[in-house]
Amino acid sequence: MRPDKDKPWTWIRYRTGMCTGCSGDCCTMPVEVTASDLVRLGVIGADEMAASPKKAAKQLQKQGLIQNYREGTGLFTMQARPNGDCHFLHPVTRLCTVYEKRPEVCRKFPSDLGPKPGFCPKNPK
Ligand code: SF4
Repeated sequence: MRPDKDKPWTWIRYRTGMCTGCSGDCCTMPVEVTASDLVRLGVIGADEMAASPKKAAKQLQKQGLIQNYREGTGLFTMQARPNGDCHFLHPVTRLCTVYEKRPEVCRKFPSDLGPKPGFCPKNPK
């Protein structure tokens, strides 16, 4: 059975180095980020975010960068492109265009975070 990103039970065990040559299967999954991730990404100022995450969320929604904000968890869901790719995934190279500033969740996935920590949705080529 080929791994399917929507079916974590089909994922394969993650090993160091697996990201090399990957076409970014994990970057087509919903990305939940924190206020500090958004500030680090440079899409909103630290002062604006600190003043009101709710207002910041509205502004980022208008810009098409985030889909929603949940006050209870403090998490923002990034707005994906129509084909499901993350906004920051390069359509041709399939590499992250903000790698140095990428959100915490992207740094920890798939070894420490995600629907099945330690497992990866990468499809073999
Ligand atoms: S920010 Fe970068 S690493 Fe994270 S999902 Fe988007 S393209 Fe992938």
